Amino acid sequence: MTDSASSSTRRKILVVAPDDHAGERLARWVVDSGYHLVRYNEVRRLVEIIEEEDPDLVVVSLEGMSSDERTKMAALCSESELPVPTLVLTNDGDGKTGFIRGECSLDWMDEAASAEKFLTRVRAMLRVASDAHQDSSAAKRDQLTKVYNRRYFDERLEMEIERARRYGRKISCVMVDIDEFKQVNATYGHQTGDSVLKILADVLLSSTRTSDIVSRYGGEEFVVILPEAAGDEAAVVAERLRRAFEECGVCFAKGEAVVTISCGIATYPDHANDSATLLRMADSAVFRAKSEGRNRCVVAFSDSDNDFESEGSTAGTILLVEDDDYDRGIASLVLRSSGYKVLEATDGELGVSMAKSKHPDLVIVDLQLTGMSGLEATRQIIQMEEMRDIPVVALTTGEVPDNLKELARVGCRGYISKPIDTNMLASQVQLYLKE
Ligand code: GH3
Ligand code: MG
Ligand code: MG
Repeated sequence: MTDSASSSTRRKILVVAPDDHAGERLARWVVDSGYHLVRYNEVRRLVEIIEEEDPDLVVVSLEGMSSDERTKMAALCSESELPVPTLVLTNDGDGKTGFIRGECSLDWMDEAASAEKFLTRVRAMLRVASDAHQDSSAAKRDQLTKVYNRRYFDERLEMEIERARRYGRKISCVMVDIDEFKQVNATYGHQTGDSVLKILADVLLSSTRTSDIVSRYGGEEFVVILPEAAGDEAAVVAERLRRAFEECGVCFAKGEAVVTISCGIATYPDHANDSATLLRMADSAVFRAKSEGRNRCVVAFSDSDNDFESEGSTAGTILLVEDDDYDRGIASLVLRSSGYKVLEATDGELGVSMAKSKHPDLVIVDLQLTGMSGLEATRQIIQMEEMRDIPVVALTTGEVPDNLKELARVGCRGYISKPIDTNMLASQVQLYLKE
């Protein structure tokens, strides 16, 4: 067995040869050396095929190629359109074909070369490519945390937005900022601060998918790109990240509060049309998370952050009476990202007084409140003169609530089951609002 075949990941070689005989010969050499072979017999769609197959090396034989195809091939090579190292086999000599010998990523050799010479060249090109790959992956990383660095992030975000634009898809950014981090540095030293940054980076990596792009944005700020994620999905991811870091319990002295993060979520094209605006929107959402008390996630507003208190621009105002931070956080995020304005009450009494003063369009009350019971809060809200015709819906545990009859008796319009189905919540709410 050859060295290439025994290596844990087999290198993939794409052989493009219109001439069957030449193609067979090259294919045999490639396969016999233990490489993974993919064969095509035309240059048309070469760039797309490379994108689909993601080979480590492309070998192109010009034997039997039409002059149109040769011209196309020469153009691809000279315009550096080929994203992978490419070896061109020609019997014309390089001057005549117009192929330029590039920075080891494009090379040519005589079509009549022996198997030995061909394979030596293939191995050399693969080795150079793999070294270059390692160099470039180090250049993309932040030294301390090993996640992507700012420069790579900036380039990648541009690319992802462009892709989203082309295919009419969404893409979200979650900006993450450590709460009161100056305090950590001041109390326990910069090195301790650094280890917190590393822990957070690990949490972000382990709580996201491999297709998500986790980067250090600067200082103690990180940003995660979630390709193809709409706002409500991104809100759920952000809340998962916040919770995962909190559950790590980073704390340096007994009895001290754990270190937490605040997150801001912004989505293309809902909140912004370009990368700079998208980041600004995510950043101002972080700012709002900080001003609302830290250790929370906030979704950017569609128009401008200043619109927060303005009426009319939302799909409706929802009063959410829920004492469980997690459930309230998730429900609020999902509803906000669907365009609702959300007022949050952390207990029954507050819920009742907010229903009276804030004129919501819908009220959602958790039935398992501590202090004033959810049923009592629901009853009081429904009885208010101000709340006539305003739907009040219960948040209940399990498929069907035990106290369905009691709920109906106090005039509750319906119920939403917990755990909250984040995919369903916005449409459930919409139905109650329409009734
Ligand atoms: P807030 O909750 O408002 O975000 O408070 P904060 O203290 O985190 O505020 P701010 O963003 O102003 O502080 C960021 C701090 O992060 C200041 C800076 O000393 C620290 N910092 C930035 N980069 C590093 C780093 O690489 N290592 C360490 N240990 N600290 C860093
Ligand atoms: Mg900061
Ligand atoms: Mg901070």
